[in-house]
Amino acid sequence: MIDALMPTYARAELAFERGEGPYLYTAEGRRFLDFASGIAVNALGHSHPHLVEAVGAQAQKLWHVSNLYRIPEAERLAQRLVEATFADTVFFTNSGAEAIECGVKLVRKYHDVTGHPERYRVITCSGAFHGRTLTTISAAANPKYLEGFTPAVEGFDNVAFGNLNELRAAITPETGAILVEPIQGEGGIRPADLDYLRALRQVCDEFGLLLFLDEVQCGVGRTGRFFAHEWAEIRPDVMAVAKGLGGGFPVGACLATEAAAAGMTAGSHGSTFGGNPLAMAVGNAVLDVVLAEGFLERVETLAAELRAGLEGLVQRHPGVLAEVRGAGLMLGLRCTVPNGEVVARLREGGLLTVPAADNVVRILPPLIIEAQQVEEALGILERTCAGWPKAA
Ligand SMILES: *Cc1c(COP(=O)(O)O)cnc(C)c1O
Repeated sequence: MIDALMPTYARAELAFERGEGPYLYTAEGRRFLDFASGIAVNALGHSHPHLVEAVGAQAQKLWHVSNLYRIPEAERLAQRLVEATFADTVFFTNSGAEAIECGVKLVRKYHDVTGHPERYRVITCSGAFHGRTLTTISAAANPKYLEGFTPAVEGFDNVAFGNLNELRAAITPETGAILVEPIQGEGGIRPADLDYLRALRQVCDEFGLLLFLDEVQCGVGRTGRFFAHEWAEIRPDVMAVAKGLGGGFPVGACLATEAAAAGMTAGSHGSTFGGNPLAMAVGNAVLDVVLAEGFLERVETLAAELRAGLEGLVQRHPGVLAEVRGAGLMLGLRCTVPNGEVVARLREGGLLTVPAADNVVRILPPLIIEAQQVEEALGILERTCAGWPKAA
């Protein structure tokens, strides 16, 4: 008999009752150091006092009114995102996939209203992940996620991630945009070269395409900058954000320049829940913390400590680990043994991590960790690697 909860996940036999900062606790009181962060969502850890206060205060006042009315909390969050980024305007969603969907629609509309309705195609990259809706699995073109769900949505051309020649060769008169993750998350913490990102900006300018970045996983402070593309000192035209933006509350956003959003006029797009007062109160509270003086610098400092420790582990345990990659607190350990086993053994040792493609274990701590938790995680990793059973 099918589970009441549709069995689309192979879940670990573990349920948590509460969380505090970077720790999760089961009902039996077992404690785990959470370097999974709900897949880069709990940017401020669990039960962050400022978020608890913000959601509680808003819950007393107003949860939802719909976008039939002005929502001051949404106007404020949009204004703050505009001030802190390349963007001039923001559409709020409930998830990353919806933020990507909004961006894809915006791309088509932009070319439609600027006289090129034929430019509806979007170039995407191998190894990409953009969500699980029909459009987003079609965009990423990963056979694992498309299997059984075809026909795919039309309009995406997938090229090798990082290969500029292949990308240029894929541009046709029907191309409207390039969609790329500055650091691939699900794909195995594969960072784009900063020069590749800069070249994409140039290619977009040369051909009149929109540069559409997916920062759903790498954004909101994860890499030590507010957004990861800032490391390349480029400005996209469109950007999808979610995960960390709500700190655990479902919030997504599609950010765009005024020019790119030219066609997004009243009636062109919508969402019942998107940008509701409760979600926006939490989003504003996340920004209070992430954009506070010194917060991102602290992320960078701790990330450097963690990375140095991980590099040491790789050197000492080549029979388990092959490589460290990523940026900031979005790190990946490519394994020489199956990554799923590493994740399971770390979990037994009290450390939560996330598997990714390319045999990688993702290390995604909450951005609020302290040096003590870096040490604790490295200790669990060291013991797990040192105790790894020798191949027979
Ligand atoms: C998680 C993720 C998405 C999809 O977000 P959902 O909220 O699950 O729809 C899209 N892009 C990237 C890079 C992601 O990591």
